[in-house]
Order: sequence, then C-alpha cells, then structure tokens
Amino acid sequence: MPELPEVETIKTQLSSYLPEEITSIQKSEVASSILKTEVPTKFFIQEVRRHGKWLIFVLKVKGQKQYMLSHLGMSGSWYISEEFPKLKHAHLILKGKSHYFSYVDPRRFGNIYVGGEELLAKKMKQNGVDVSSSDFTLDYLKKCLMKYPEREIKVCLLDQKLFAGVGNYMASEICAHARIRPQRIVKTLCEEEIRKIKRAFSTVIKGATQQGGTTFQGGYRDAFGEKGEGVKNLVVFHQKICGLCKQSEVVKIEQKTRASFYCPKCQK
Ligand SMILES: [Zn+2]
Repeated sequence: MPELPEVETIKTQLSSYLPEEITSIQKSEVASSILKTEVPTKFFIQEVRRHGKWLIFVLKVKGQKQYMLSHLGMSGSWYISEEFPKLKHAHLILKGKSHYFSYVDPRRFGNIYVGGEELLAKKMKQNGVDVSSSDFTLDYLKKCLMKYPEREIKVCLLDQKLFAGVGNYMASEICAHARIRPQRIVKTLCEEEIRKIKRAFSTVIKGATQQGGTTFQGGYRDAFGEKGEGVKNLVVFHQKICGLCKQSEVVKIEQKTRASFYCPKCQK
C-alpha cells in the first residue's frame, strides 16, 4: 500500500509535468467505484500537493478554483506518458497538451473526488498533521499519544487522524528505529522513548523518499512505472534478520489484523 514516501515520490514526479491543460478525459468501464464525484472534462491543473496519503491537485475549472483529491488506496498510482497509455487498469486518463496522466489501480480501493474548498476542508479534517511537515513537532506527537494512553504504540501510529501519511511498513520501521516494541502500551513510554520515536519518523521518511518509495512484491510503481528501492532501508519489516544488530531473527506478530515485525534484541 502506498504510504507517505510513495505518495511523495509520485507527487514530485507529477509536479515536474505541471502546470498542464487537460483537454479531454477518458474513464474505464469500472471507474465509478473510484470516482466519487463527477470529474470535469476540461480543466487546468496548476499544481499538485500532498497531505498524508492524499494527492491534492489544484485545478482551475471554468475560471474557478477546485481540487481533485486522489487517495491511492491499496494499489493506486499515477502514470505519466507521452503516448496514450496501453494499461490494463487505467481508470481515469487525463489528456494534456503534451502528456497523458493516468490513474492506474488494479485493486480499485483508491478514491478520487473533485470539489471546492468545502470538500477539501472536509477531507483534510479526517487527517491529522502530515508527519513530514513542520507542523509535526515533538509537542504534537506527545499530545496525540496522551489522547490514547491505553493503545499499543504501533496501532496508534497508524491512526491517520493523528499521523497522516503513516502506513504499515512505516509504523513497524519507526518502532524499530526508536528501539521500542510495536506492542508497547503508549502510557509506558518514557520521555526519552518519545523523543526517539520523533527522530525515527524522520529517519524512515527520509530513507524511503530518497529511494523513490518502497516496493514490495508486485506492489507500488512510481509515475514512470518504476519500482522504488526503499526495501534496501528496511530493518525489520518483512526481514529475516534485524538490520540494526544484524544478528537477531525478526519476530512477526499480528496487531489489529495487520502484520508487525520487531527485533527482540534491539527493541524493548
Ligand atoms: Zn536487532
């Protein structure tokens, strides 16, 4: 599933092809499961931003500012091409003056909405602070953790209302770099451990984004169809031996139906 580093990679790639005027659109037969609102047929894309796992395209539609909000779900991506894309799972194809921008999503869990400020505000309200932004401070992290003292830390990290952008691999990796076990109860964390968690966010985001995102088997592709090399950075997630101590075997557990990984030696 695309997480912050993957969405950021796609955003950066799209950005270098914008602004662009969209002269027509084409939808697949099953696009209605993804397109939650009408998509205009002609518009201008000024820029694309990101908040958490959402891409926010800033549009001009008949002279009015609108937004196209795109969540990539489990397997979504945007694909840039000069020629009309011959892709099996392209559900929305935007024809620009010089390029095509195609929303590709084999599993179709992604969502696209087009609307004004109200829609943007409503959708962003469901998201906490973006964890790669300057709003994500140690104080913010502490405040969020204090709200849910009884939760397991990894479960808490996955809460988009608190930590927009974090997904399953990031949450496991953040716990590993912070040297705490994913099942630790939030209220048992000391000040120093919370500081370590804050630092671990930066380590994980920076590492994965520099590698162009993280691709697991058959998973994420960037806007040019390439895999990200972020797996090189993983220390516990789907690893046999811990990448930190390079000795201990990684333990796999399940938390709220999601797989978690940790090193019993490095993480307390
Ligand atoms: Zn270890």
